[in-house]
Amino acid sequence: MEFQTYLIKYGEIGIKGKNRYQFEDALVRQIRFALRKIEGDFHVYKSQSRVYVDCEGGYDCDEVTEALQTVFGIVGICPVVRVSDHGFEELKKDVIAYMDEMYPDKNITFKVESRRARKTYPVRSMEMNRDLGEAILYAFPEIRVNVHNPDVLLHVEVREDIYIYSKVIPGPGGMPIGTNGKAMLLLSGGIDSPVAGYRIAKRGVGLAATYFHAPPYTSERAKQKVVDLAREVSKYTGPIRLYVVNFTDIQLEIYEKCPHDELTIIMRRYMMRIAEHFARMDECLGLITGESIGQVASQTMQSLAATNEVCTLPVYRPLIGFDKQEIVSEAEKIGTYETSILPYEDCCTIFVAKHPVTRPQVEAIKKSEEKLSETIEELYQRAVDTAEVIEVS
Ligand code: ATP
Ligand code: MG
Repeated sequence: MEFQTYLIKYGEIGIKGKNRYQFEDALVRQIRFALRKIEGDFHVYKSQSRVYVDCEGGYDCDEVTEALQTVFGIVGICPVVRVSDHGFEELKKDVIAYMDEMYPDKNITFKVESRRARKTYPVRSMEMNRDLGEAILYAFPEIRVNVHNPDVLLHVEVREDIYIYSKVIPGPGGMPIGTNGKAMLLLSGGIDSPVAGYRIAKRGVGLAATYFHAPPYTSERAKQKVVDLAREVSKYTGPIRLYVVNFTDIQLEIYEKCPHDELTIIMRRYMMRIAEHFARMDECLGLITGESIGQVASQTMQSLAATNEVCTLPVYRPLIGFDKQEIVSEAEKIGTYETSILPYEDCCTIFVAKHPVTRPQVEAIKKSEEKLSETIEELYQRAVDTAEVIEVS
């Protein structure tokens, strides 16, 4: 079946008044972004508190649906057959043709739901419901009406043209990107952090990202993997500015001066500090990590508290209560899993202690960090100054 328009359904909770405007504008913008690489001419617009995508010329319906399913804020995607208004008798034929093609098996129940958005249309919606329903019943003897719980709810909407639709394909839900500011994702090459970014972005938050690598201990391939992950996530979020920080000298310095069982915690505290630096530069309102309680030694409650202690921006940890398997399932669903499991080394895993502390005390950690006092400022500054900026989209 050929569809000429998509009607976009979005959740309406909390988007009354002035917010609604912003919500719809952001939704339109994100839909345009999602469709920009797809062949076809698409006209995205809002009209009478609905959002539509008109499609001109040849296009692939599955491709469009798939792209729309990456746009946060969309709860339902309705492929619409658009017919021109050439009289009510002709409309009956159009509706019959629609039902015939969409539902080859007529052993179904249905109900017509008409909407007269163009008030000058000569047939009122109640009459449309009745007469179109009757026409369908005449055309297909097996079909039945069920007004309470129909298999097919057939929408007929009179606008300039007439819109016929009955299918609702689920969207991702959430809020359109850009309606809730921006946050800085600490993006590693692992499974968790891309999912964490996705989760926060789903609430309307744009993303920037920071990746720490340790050349030559970590390879160019490992970095490329993170760029690829950022690209996967950007399918949902739009462009992501990725800061790639050379963390080698800081790591070596910590390794040389600090107790080895505290390496990971101290290293993570420096990661947070540096990520926060770029967050502020980029007007981000928070940090995001893929941490989950108890997953590894650096994610016990005490470790998280010690890491958190250096941050002044709020740190969002959307996976905090997730089991690994739940995170894996989500990574598979959003399409980052395949890339995440590629076997390249991560900077965290290179300088790890055999027996890291699992109950670090902040005061003890601070004391250890004092051992870095002579050099760390300069190393920190150099890491910040030499960061590579990659615009991923
Ligand atoms: P992931 O699967 O996300 O890499 P993980 O299970 O490997 O997480 P950790 O290595 O302890 O756990 O990292 C916890 C969080 O810290 C990550 O989810 C990520 O947000 C951040 N992080 C870790 N390593 C890096 C890195 N090299 N660059 C940027 N952020 C990192
Ligand atoms: Mg990791």
